[in-house]
Amino acid sequence: MQQILNYINGGFEPAKSRFFIDNFNPATGKIYSQLPDSDADDVEVALESAEKAYDAWRLTSSEDRFKILNKIAELIDLKNESLALAESIDQGKPLWLAKNEMIRSAQNFRFFATAAMQFASESHNMEGVAINYTLRQSIGVVGCISPWNLPLYLFSWKIAPALAAGNCVIAKPSEITPMTAYLLGEICTEAGLPPGVLNIVHGLGPKVGNAMVSHPRIKAISFTGGTSTGKHIASIAAPMFKKLSLELGGKNPNIIFADCDFEKALKTTVQSSFLNQGEICLCGSRIIVERSIYDKFKTALVEEVKQLKVGNPLENSSRVGAIVSQMHYDKVLSYLDIAKAEGGQILLGGHALKMEGELNEGWYIAPTIIENLAFDCRTNTEEIFGPVVTISPFDTVEEALQMANCTEYGLASTVWTQDLTKAHNVAAKIQSGIVWINCWLLRDLRTPFGGVKQSGVGREGGWEAMRFFTETKNVCIKL
Ligand code: NDP
Repeated sequence: MQQILNYINGGFEPAKSRFFIDNFNPATGKIYSQLPDSDADDVEVALESAEKAYDAWRLTSSEDRFKILNKIAELIDLKNESLALAESIDQGKPLWLAKNEMIRSAQNFRFFATAAMQFASESHNMEGVAINYTLRQSIGVVGCISPWNLPLYLFSWKIAPALAAGNCVIAKPSEITPMTAYLLGEICTEAGLPPGVLNIVHGLGPKVGNAMVSHPRIKAISFTGGTSTGKHIASIAAPMFKKLSLELGGKNPNIIFADCDFEKALKTTVQSSFLNQGEICLCGSRIIVERSIYDKFKTALVEEVKQLKVGNPLENSSRVGAIVSQMHYDKVLSYLDIAKAEGGQILLGGHALKMEGELNEGWYIAPTIIENLAFDCRTNTEEIFGPVVTISPFDTVEEALQMANCTEYGLASTVWTQDLTKAHNVAAKIQSGIVWINCWLLRDLRTPFGGVKQSGVGREGGWEAMRFFTETKNVCIKL
């Protein structure tokens, strides 16, 4: 059985404890590899190697940093097929989707490679009196903790800017999906990243993650994951005055006005509901439709979603793969019971799916559409993070906004209308960090990414990420 190892000081090693954790293939429900069950001792070793590497890395020219990060991007592209296969087996997502995500992971490294070259200080001139210059200096050793839904993509989204800004990194992927993070270690060595600049420590959140968050010499934490974990991390890191970036849960509304381009809204809604089994923080899990087209949209949506084939992630025809873990599968199914108890009417799906043959013990759930729920019930306000959406009608813009804004979350939203004035009005009033008008998941890596309310603190993307991973120092010189 394949054993994943920690990537420390440019080499691979097991946890100091020599204990391993089983890693499951969601498509079959079977153990297929093992990962180190690391703890605070492993974080300490990783930290020592990162601290040793830091002085040289922070003084490495931006051009050399560019070259190495760009090389990592090239190697990810070159190994697209094998990385995508590893991601699909580890996470349960369809292979075709994993291939796209590997392309986007390479883009993250390429984007922040160029950011290393472009990042600059500002200067503020006080005419005849003084001149200020603002340094943005690397922080030191920083921690990056990522979730299981887009494993390499979200891992690279943090690591690339942290390295580009001149920091050394200790990174922890989700224990549920460690494989592509492990393979990234090999790629980094091949690309010439000096030993210790990036260290990847595998294991459980409460052990490895906690050790990183509470370590006084790890100066900043960039975290993506659930809101309750984010709260816990903030409770430890905030009193230590660490820099914190928290990208947390979502319960995103998808508002569809009667004047939308119906076909585009429909096709994109199918995607935004069920891509990656609905396990994307940006998925629109609450579909809110203007009453005059409600029945037509609902019927068309059910018909479209019926066509989505759920099945073996490795088969090209599968549109929806397996749910990432037994625990998450149980959680998603429990929400189907909650929805029914809350009076929800299941229009489609609403149950687990049993596959044939070797997939027989895999974790599959039929794409589910539920209506007839109050907009403020649990099903409509709590994050399910699976192939489950609700659909509800609205009559006025105000009502749509009230429904959209009624959760604790505020990550992303989608608005479908051909009336630009209405679109601007809704975009201004909706409580989310990201608003898509007549599209979904269209990402420009320069734009700020993150949520409001309980969806997070801080922003990633573009200069926001480079600024997060640097300390600002203003120097004022009297003339
Ligand atoms: P979790 O919060 O369970 O875990 C995220 C990461 O934190 C994992 O690596 C986990 O390790 C680790 N962790 C767990 N406990 C601790 C701890 N006490 N201290 C430090 N680290 C810890 O989230 P999931 O992996 O379940 O991911 C799904 C969540 O991520 C959803 O809520 C989703 O909305 C959110 N998400 C948000 C995004 C955004 O940009 N806002 C993007 C993508 C997902 P381990 O796996 O070992 O538990």
